[in-house]
Amino acid sequence: MNTLNLTITNGVALIEIDLPERSVNIFTPALVADLEYAINRVIADGDIRGAIISSAKSSFIVGADLKYLLQQYREDWQAFEAAHFFDKENRLFRRMETSGKPFVAALNGSALGGGLELALACHYRILNANPKAVVGLPEVTVGLLPAGGGTQRLPRLIGIEDALPLLLEGKPLKPAQALALGVVDELATPDTLISKATHWINNNPKPTQPWDVKGFIVPNNAGAMAEHAGRSFNANMVRLRKKTQDNYPAPLAILSAVYEGTLLPFDLALDIEAKYFGQLFSDPVSRNLIRTQFVNKGQADKLVNRPIGIDKFTTKKIGVIGAGMMGAGIAHVAAATGLHVVLIDNNQEATQRAKAFIQNKLEKETAKKYSIQDTDQSSAQNQAQQDMEATLARIHATSDYQSLSDCDLVIEAVFENRDVKAEVFAQIEKYIKPDAVLASNTSTLPIASLATTSKHPNRIIGLHFFSPVDRMPLVEVIKAPKTSKATLACALDFVQQLHKTPVVVNDSPGFFTSRIFCSYIDEGMAMLAEGIAPALIENAAIQTSFAIGPLAVTDEVSLDLQQRVVDQAIADKLAPERLRLHAQPTIRLMNEIGRLGRKTGAGFYDYPSNQPKRLASVITHHYPTASMQPDIKDVSDRLLYIQALESARCVEAGIISPSDADLGAILGLGFPTWTGGPLSFIDTIGIHAFVTRCQQLTKYGQRFEPSPWLLDRAKNQRSFYSNSF
Ligand code: NAD
Repeated sequence: MNTLNLTITNGVALIEIDLPERSVNIFTPALVADLEYAINRVIADGDIRGAIISSAKSSFIVGADLKYLLQQYREDWQAFEAAHFFDKENRLFRRMETSGKPFVAALNGSALGGGLELALACHYRILNANPKAVVGLPEVTVGLLPAGGGTQRLPRLIGIEDALPLLLEGKPLKPAQALALGVVDELATPDTLISKATHWINNNPKPTQPWDVKGFIVPNNAGAMAEHAGRSFNANMVRLRKKTQDNYPAPLAILSAVYEGTLLPFDLALDIEAKYFGQLFSDPVSRNLIRTQFVNKGQADKLVNRPIGIDKFTTKKIGVIGAGMMGAGIAHVAAATGLHVVLIDNNQEATQRAKAFIQNKLEKETAKKYSIQDTDQSSAQNQAQQDMEATLARIHATSDYQSLSDCDLVIEAVFENRDVKAEVFAQIEKYIKPDAVLASNTSTLPIASLATTSKHPNRIIGLHFFSPVDRMPLVEVIKAPKTSKATLACALDFVQQLHKTPVVVNDSPGFFTSRIFCSYIDEGMAMLAEGIAPALIENAAIQTSFAIGPLAVTDEVSLDLQQRVVDQAIADKLAPERLRLHAQPTIRLMNEIGRLGRKTGAGFYDYPSNQPKRLASVITHHYPTASMQPDIKDVSDRLLYIQALESARCVEAGIISPSDADLGAILGLGFPTWTGGPLSFIDTIGIHAFVTRCQQLTKYGQRFEPSPWLLDRAKNQRSFYSNSF
């Protein structure tokens, strides 16, 4: 047994979980085997009266081994086969809770997913009172359901109505909340956890789970009364179908498992749970969610693209030039993570606005922080206030470039204009340290074109943040041909310091994200010009689970900025022909009629005050709606396929890897997460079926024609990911 320690003191066993070479405990096959041995021993040994299950690490168990789960995924897997995946765990948990001996979960830290399910199968749960020790069932976030009895024990313990939000949203509970809901029975300090558990065992020598007591009914009666349960099930199902647009099967499966299961005896209920789990685990959505959001994201966060053999950099002080929307946002997140910031703008008013913006953000964060503390409000409030003042004090706003002399890294975020950027770069280079990194936050201008006049092009790199900077987790790191390995390593270390996720892209017009974004809005505008109803375009995007429709997002970015970007790209001969045909004329028209987007209260949408935005009728005056409208599937496919094709072209051109492309599209562009990203989407459809559908879509334009490279991949059945990775 190398995943846990088993010790016996005065007839009470202590099972302490401690996976080797890992900072946290997760459910692995080795842990399950060791737990089986330990639990069987407790049950069989007449000298052992009961057992405490705890952990030797700072957390208890934080879930399943997602990488292992992903490796088990098979294309030809049938739901009924996948259903039996957790049989062993379930038999073990059942044997434990029906053994007649007391098992107590002494949760010294967070218990998530299978960790909480193991605790729910114990007869009593004591949780560390430290607010950092959270409990929850987050499986829904990876497209699965808790398959270790979680969908059955939790509602039987606390009632269906209270259990559903925990199962459907996957949000963790702090100790006070967990106690109030009855998910745990008692809170304790770490040093009293084991003594309290022992005390409970001494006083409860033969416990039975409530659901194993004859005549048990689910608390609040919801599950016991079929008629009430049916009504509530239907209402919840309607709500969830609207929310998921039927693209995410997990919440619906969880709901069904809970309602069907709680009408049945416990052992049959576990079969129901397993059946729904099998459906989810054999569905590509869970594989896509796990692969991109956990495995690929985990690797990017660990800086898998960082050049090897270069010492780690710790950035202490940065310069930000341009105190506009992006500069202020970057200064805010950098200062909030403890870095000193020199903020320079040639417009005094912009600097004042940036400082007010940052202060406002910090005040909101502070208010939120102490409102969610569940202990000692006033000291939390004082601490939060002090943190805010210290963060603001780390930002030094000035117009003096000399202040950059001790910065480790300087980011320019001035206007998207090559000449302005070149001038600013020349100024920065006069003052910075010889080894400082010089980054540009440009959205579209190739980094090499900005570095032409630089004396040190090896130190120049792109760091493309997204708006709003504090909320968007992605940074697109763009390396130009002359960017040195040390510069790339330093830039990646900096992104990690900000707790953001980097994707690495080779220099080219629009890099990756702006290029894909342009293909999305361009397709929206092409459809508008064809006479497709704006509502159909936007609704197709929402039904596909894009974060926002192509017309709405153009309003957010603003039509004047889009015009500058598109005109510049076309003038530089860097844009594809389709932008000239569709996006450019529509964006020009919107500028001419003064509809610049949300910021002016009018774009493709109207923005009446105190009311939700609505599509503007004036748009159909300029783009009359055709009498024949296409099927919504065609509209949805055009939006998905055009971006997937453009992403494949980026991979073909060696601009980005499939995993970074998927991550970049999901974290930076709001591409539907159920797909796993544009390349995972192609793999899910099957590359052959994908190119066939693209060829059908060429009836809307040659832009849908797959490249010979992609056709060749399809012919040879070469997917972008092999063996689930
Ligand atoms: P902005 O217009 O809000 O701010 C630009 C700031 O630069 C202004 O405060 C201006 O006074 C200042 N400035 C201009 N010339 C200067 C100079 N010579 N010296 C010092 N300061 C100068 O623009 P923004 O939206 O923050 O965009 C900045 C950059 O970030 C652009 O390159 C843009 O493409 C890029 N970007 C923007 C977004 C976005 O969503 N807005 C997203 C990613 C990247």
